[in-house]
Amino acid sequence: MAWQDYVHDMQRCTRCSYCKWIPYRYMQNTDFIQGCPSISRYLWHAYSASGKFNMAYSLLQERIEIDESFLEVLYKCQMDGSCDISCKVQQDLEPLQLMQELRIKCVEEGQLVPAHMMVIEGLRKEDNMMQSKKTDRARWAEGLNVKNLTEEKGEVVFHAGCRYSFDQELWPIARGGLELLQKAGVDVGIMGIDEACCGGRAYELGYAGELTKYAEHQMEAFRTAGVKTLVTPCADCYAAFSVLYDKIGKKMGIEVLHLVQYLDRLIKTGQLKLTKKVPLTVTYHDPCHLGRLGEPWVHWQGKETKVMGQMIVHDPPKKFRRGAGGIYEPPRDILKSIPGLNFVEMYRIREYAWCCGAGGGVIDAYPDFAAWTGNERLKEAGAVGAEAIISACGWCKRSFLDAAAESGDKTKVYDIVELLQMAV
Ligand code: SF4
Ligand code: SF4
Repeated sequence: MAWQDYVHDMQRCTRCSYCKWIPYRYMQNTDFIQGCPSISRYLWHAYSASGKFNMAYSLLQERIEIDESFLEVLYKCQMDGSCDISCKVQQDLEPLQLMQELRIKCVEEGQLVPAHMMVIEGLRKEDNMMQSKKTDRARWAEGLNVKNLTEEKGEVVFHAGCRYSFDQELWPIARGGLELLQKAGVDVGIMGIDEACCGGRAYELGYAGELTKYAEHQMEAFRTAGVKTLVTPCADCYAAFSVLYDKIGKKMGIEVLHLVQYLDRLIKTGQLKLTKKVPLTVTYHDPCHLGRLGEPWVHWQGKETKVMGQMIVHDPPKKFRRGAGGIYEPPRDILKSIPGLNFVEMYRIREYAWCCGAGGGVIDAYPDFAAWTGNERLKEAGAVGAEAIISACGWCKRSFLDAAAESGDKTKVYDIVELLQMAV
C-alpha cells in the first residue's frame, strides 16, 4: 500500500496516545512505562505515531510539504514498532507501515538525510551498511576452520550480517556463535567475502529498491550454494530474511532461523551441553527485530470500506500483526538453562520492549538520540537488579556499549553467545 492508502487510519487516529506508552495492564514502575523513544525524548506530539498520522494527512491535503523539519521528525524514530503494537490495543491502525511508506516517498522524491546518503552510497559500492570494504567482509572469521559455501557444500549457512562482520569489537561473538554450532556437530559454512547485506536496514531508511535487489541476490546465492538452513546472529538480518522478503513477495524457500533458535534447539536435543556455572544476575533485552518485528508477515488483499461515515470494514477480514508472534521463548529458555545464572525480567518486555536505540537509521544520523535511548534501557536493567543486560543482536550490543560509554553506566553488556561460551 502507498502512503495515501492509509488515509482512513489518518482520519481515525483519535489522539488517545496509547501509541506513546506500553498498555496499562503491563505498567509496573512509573519510571518505565513509556513505549515510544521519539516522543519520550522530544516531547512534542509530532514525534509520536499519532503525530505522523497528522503530518501525513496534512501532506495529503497539501497543507504542508516535505522539508527539513518534516524529515527530522520522520527520521528521529527508530522504526521499532512499539507504537504500532500499542495502538492495536485500542485501534487497529498501522502507524509503522505508514511511516515506512512516508520514508519510501521521501527517498523517491530525493528528500534525503545526509548521514543516510553516505551509508547508502557505501552499500551500493561495497554491499554493506558499515561504509567498509567488501573485501574485508570475512576478516572476522580469519583463522577459523570453516567451509566457504561458495566453494564446497554444506547444510547450514551462517550469515554474520554487516554489523558483526565489520565491527571488530563484536567479532568474538560471530566467531563464538559459529564455533558453538561446529562444537554441536552442525555442518555449517559461510559465504566469505561473497556474503552481502540483507537490505533490511536500507529498506527501513526508505530505500525500497535495495531490499528487492538484495533479496533477489541472496535467494540466488543460497540456491546456488544448495543450503537448507540460514542462521544469523543478527536480529535485523533475521527480520529481513524472514519477514521483509516475504512482505515484498520474495519468500526465501529455505529454513530461516536466528542463532538463538538454533542454539536453543541444540541445547534441548543435548547436542550442546552447558556444564559450567555462570554466577551472574542478568536480564534479557528483546531486540525489536527478533521480537515484535520478527513476527511473520501477514498478507491481505481485499477491500477496505468506510461505513456509517466512521467504521472501517475489511472484506475479507484482515488479520493484524500484534507482535505476540515474535521470537521470545528461545533466548529465555537458553538463559534459564545456564547453570548458576539468575535471570530477572525488566518491566517492558516481549512485544512491549523498549528499543536499544539503534533502529531506523537513528544510530547513523542521530547518535545522541540512540545513546539516550540505550541509556534508558540500561537504567531499566539496573532497576531490576541486573548486573548485565543480554541481547541477541549486534546492533543492540553496539548501541548499549555506546550508551554506557557516554553515561558511564556500569551495567555489563553481553550477547547471549558470550554467556554460552562461558557455560560450555
Ligand atoms: S494509539 Fe493509535 S489511535 Fe491512539 S493516538 Fe496513537 S496512533 Fe492515534
Ligand atoms: S517506531 Fe518507535 S520511535 Fe517511531 S514513533 Fe513508533 S514507537 Fe516511536
